Amino acid sequence: MGPLSTDLGLPRLRGTDPAAGDPVAGDLVAQALDTGRLVDRFGRVHRDLRISLTDRCSLRCTYCMPEQGLPWLAKPTLLTTPELLRLVEVAVSLGIEEVRLTGGEPLLRRDLVDVVAGIAALGPEVSMTTNALGLERQAQALVDAGLTRVNISLDTLRHDTFRALARRDRLDDTLAGIAAADAAGLRPLKLNTVLMRDLNDVEAVDLLAFALEHGYQLRFIEQMPLDAGHTWTRENMVSGEEILARLRTAYALEPVPQRGSAPAELFTVDGGPATVGVIASVSAPFCGACDRVRLTADGQVRNCLFATGETDLRTPLRDGADEEELRALVAASIAVKLPGHGINEPGFLQPPRPMSAIGG
Ligand code: SAM
Ligand code: SF4
Repeated sequence: MGPLSTDLGLPRLRGTDPAAGDPVAGDLVAQALDTGRLVDRFGRVHRDLRISLTDRCSLRCTYCMPEQGLPWLAKPTLLTTPELLRLVEVAVSLGIEEVRLTGGEPLLRRDLVDVVAGIAALGPEVSMTTNALGLERQAQALVDAGLTRVNISLDTLRHDTFRALARRDRLDDTLAGIAAADAAGLRPLKLNTVLMRDLNDVEAVDLLAFALEHGYQLRFIEQMPLDAGHTWTRENMVSGEEILARLRTAYALEPVPQRGSAPAELFTVDGGPATVGVIASVSAPFCGACDRVRLTADGQVRNCLFATGETDLRTPLRDGADEEELRALVAASIAVKLPGHGINEPGFLQPPRPMSAIGG
C-alpha cells in the first residue's frame, strides 16, 4: 500500500493498490469512499459493471477465440457465487446501478439463475450479453429471477457462414434463443453483429431487415483488436462508415442526436421509429463518455476493455479483507483509469487477456 493512502487515512489495503504513490488518485479514492460514487480524474462517473461469469464458450467466433479454445482459467481461481455477490455489493455501495453479465458465454454458468436473483436482490438492473445457445430453456426462469434485458450476438442468417464464423453451425439454436427471449418479454431486445470482411459483410442489409421485421434493435460493432489469435488488422476491419454505406443501399438513415454514455451511435431507419446502431469503438472511440468497469470471472477489476493492468480483488477477498478495503481497491482502479483505449496511437498494445476472458 502506498504512503499517500496512509496519509489520507484510507483503509489498509491487503491487495496491490494501483493508486499508490499518486496523490490525485489518492484523493479520488477518498472521495469515492465518502460519496459512494466512482468518479475518475476526467470526471467520468461509473455506474455500469460488466461481469464475466466464465471465460468458456459454446462457440469459437473467429474474431474472439481460436478453434481449439484457450487455456481456461483454473477452477479454484473462479469466484464462487457468494464471492461474486459480495463484490457486487461492494460495487453497488460505490454507485453501480447496472450489472451486465457476459463472458465467455454466461449461459454456461450452471447457477446463472441464482446469480441473477442474487444480483437483482442487491438493487441494480441486471442484463446479459449472450450468444443465446440454450437460452430457449432458461429465458423465463431468468426473467423470473430478475433479468430485464439481453443483447444477443447474431452475425449471420446463413448456416454455412455461421459455421465458418463460429466454427460450428448453431444458427437454429441462436434463432430459437432469440425467439425465446422475445417471448419471455426481454425487450427492448438488442442484437449485436460484428461484420467480417468477405465473410458476413454482405449480410448487413439482410440482418437489418430481420431485426426490423421482428422489432429488434440491431447494433453493428466494429471488430476490435481483442482476439486471442491476434489476427485483427485495421485494413480488414469493416469500419462504421463502411457499414453505414452498405445499409444506405437499402435504407434511409438519419443520425439520432445525443448518445450519452451509450456506445452506439443511433440512426433512424426510413424515418423511424425503428433505429439501427453502430458501435465504432475503433474509428470513433467514445471513451470520453465511458461509465464502465469490469470484473473478470477470476476476480480482477479492469477499468477498460483495453487496460493492460488489472486490480486483484479475489486474493484480498479470500484473505479476509473488509468492505472498506475492497471499496478502496475498486475506487483505486477507477482513479487510475486512462482517458482512452489508445488503439489509434502508435504505442498501442493489445491487452494480454482476450475478449472472452475480459467480458465483452
Ligand atoms: N458470448 C457472448 C456473446 O457472444 O454475446 C458474450 C461474450 S462476447 C465476448 C460479447 C460481445 O463481444 C459479443 O457481441 C461479441 O460479438 C463481441 N466481440 C467479441 N470479440 C470481439 C472483437 N474482437 N471485436 C468486437 N466485438 C467482439
Ligand atoms: Fe463465444 Fe461470444 Fe466469443 Fe463468440 S464472441 S466465441 S460466442 S464469447
